[in-house]
Amino acid sequence: MFSKILIANRGEIACRIIKTARRMDIKSVAVHSEADANALHVEIADEKVFIGPPPSAQSYLIVEKIVDACKKTGAQAVHPGYGFLSERAAFCEALKAEGIAFIGPDVLAIGAMGDKIESKKLAAKAGVSTVPGYLGVIADDDEAVKIAGEIGYPVMIKASAGGGGKGMRVAWNDQQAREGFRSATNEARSSFADDRVFIEKYIVEPRHIEIQVLADGHGNAVYLGERECSIQRRHQKVIEEAPSPFLDAATRKAMGEQAVALAKAVQYKSAGTVEFIVDAQRNFYFLEMNTRLQVEHPVTEMITGVDLVELMIRVAAGEKLPFTQDDIKLRGWSVEARIYAEEPTRNFLPSTGRVTRYRPPVESQFVRVDTGVYEGGEISMFYDPMIAKLITRGADRETAIGHMKDALDAFQIRGVGHNISFLAAVMQKQRFLDGRLTTNFIAEEFPEGFTGVDLDAETSDRLVAVAAFVHDKLAERNRTLSGQMPGYQPPRQNFWMVRINRANTPVFVDETERGADVRVGGQVLSLSTSWEIGDTLWVGSVEGRKMTVQVDVTNDGYVLFHGGAQIRAQVLTPRAAELSDLMIERIPPDRSKMLLSPMPGLLMQLPVKVGQEVKAGQELCVVEAMKMENILRAERDGVIAKINVEAGSSLAVDQIILEFE
Ligand code: ADP
Ligand code: ADP
Ligand code: MG
Repeated sequence: MFSKILIANRGEIACRIIKTARRMDIKSVAVHSEADANALHVEIADEKVFIGPPPSAQSYLIVEKIVDACKKTGAQAVHPGYGFLSERAAFCEALKAEGIAFIGPDVLAIGAMGDKIESKKLAAKAGVSTVPGYLGVIADDDEAVKIAGEIGYPVMIKASAGGGGKGMRVAWNDQQAREGFRSATNEARSSFADDRVFIEKYIVEPRHIEIQVLADGHGNAVYLGERECSIQRRHQKVIEEAPSPFLDAATRKAMGEQAVALAKAVQYKSAGTVEFIVDAQRNFYFLEMNTRLQVEHPVTEMITGVDLVELMIRVAAGEKLPFTQDDIKLRGWSVEARIYAEEPTRNFLPSTGRVTRYRPPVESQFVRVDTGVYEGGEISMFYDPMIAKLITRGADRETAIGHMKDALDAFQIRGVGHNISFLAAVMQKQRFLDGRLTTNFIAEEFPEGFTGVDLDAETSDRLVAVAAFVHDKLAERNRTLSGQMPGYQPPRQNFWMVRINRANTPVFVDETERGADVRVGGQVLSLSTSWEIGDTLWVGSVEGRKMTVQVDVTNDGYVLFHGGAQIRAQVLTPRAAELSDLMIERIPPDRSKMLLSPMPGLLMQLPVKVGQEVKAGQELCVVEAMKMENILRAERDGVIAKINVEAGSSLAVDQIILEFE
């Protein structure tokens, strides 16, 4: 076995690999860019090597720097994680030339599976069912239209070198095929420096279901069940689970066996994933094979009890798989939610900045948190905006989802935007609970985008009770504080008005041994909790039902977070509430005549001038953030009155870029 390995990655996946290495008594070496000098993966590794400036193209993606870091530290093997160099055959070769082991498959398999056209051909040859389509390279848009017509609409136009949901377009008619061909080609050229595209049938009502395979260098290969990853946004996974609520044992076996056949056909060794698209009739078709550890691998670990990273390391060291197919049993259910630094209510724009509070839920046998950030750390604009992966497990799907809801309620992140409210909203959708998933789920369930969560009346009442409870405790402490006027103690106050959105709800708090009985409107809710002043998390039960609420104390009240909703509440004496009713509402400033930067980033282009007339929909400027170019357009016709920044400058969120007359 190796005594020291290097992890050629960052963030949560680097941390996750280091944990397993430590358990196996293997020393770990972290590499890091300038931006990551204080990152968590550097902190927890045994050694660290600095590899260059923040952009990954100048650090994490440079093969020589990683090879040098191995030589310098004496690392005998490299785990590449996912992304970065994980699927680069040249990286694998460079390591091999220096006698360093690659913790992953051989060059042959990486090469064969790295190209979508080639891998589809190979899969078909190995007896794997593939999406009907045309596997030649398409020359121009005329040919694209012709082939699309032959396959029959709808079709999907895909970059052969594609990945990460890029270089893909769906077309339902000739015109879309023409446009789709052009834009997929352009995207492929700029993202992958390879503009080959092909066309296949677009599977309607598709589910994305993938098979985890594991193989050693001695000819043994097994599958570890499937993961359903149909909850996607722009072809990128958001929520994954294992097993799939859709598969029956026969389909699982057929998919598993085909995946293993493909693995064997390319002499695969290590962990890998064969992705399938599955239609409503459970017909399944090969999409691609990812020759690396997958982001969502924890759900498989949760239901199989296998540590995939450990086995990758063992296989790379030449060991045999310690089990056969028959030994693999799937137990229970597991769900993973990807927590991203983004603004879900602002069309999921990426968010960056310092994480001023980071308190993940407590880990247990039901809850796992894979993370790469810490309180006080920074989410920079240079890398993937993932903050953490939250994984839960239960005996069945409903239980696993229940744990997920509670864990999301308990997950405290402040300072950067995050998608926890959105994830909570998905968990509440009846269609999700029913397991009726397709890759269109998000688009169909949130047709207007995500606008926040509306709580039902019952949950709102419970939150009102929690707000009153918290306030009552604070008020009671203040009342009984020592050092007040001698002999005088103000009378006990326990009748409150909870004020939310200028509406008052009368509440009466009656302390009990385990919490309080709170009268809200006509009902009495019995609260039980061990909450103490200073806690930012209220954990307890209301009427016997478990409830987790984040409570932030602000200077004029409370902000409560629960079930994806965020509620601002004031708890006032009846007299104060009466007076509040008389206050004039503060009208937010009119920003309709301004163009604000929706995110921190770099102003790339500003093709308009002062005095220019612009039409609704016209491009006003291009802001680059987190590797994406975002075009900001005029919302209505107007004339530019003032421009406050020039192209090339960096922008803060909500910074005023320009103003209209
Ligand atoms: P997976 O297929 O493992 O779930 P995704 O589809 O979410 O992964 O990600 C697609 C691609 O995006 C990955 O193959 C990887 O190249 C890239 N990627 C995702 N996360 C990161 C990251 N933290 N750092 C670098 N690249 C990443
Ligand atoms: P990537 O390398 O970017 O992960 P994939 O080929 O794995 O590309 O496709 C990503 C996603 O796009 C899939 O998970 C699925 O949602 C969708 N997709 C890909 N091909 C098809 C298809 N033929 N029909 C329907 N959806 C598809
Ligand atoms: Mg894929």
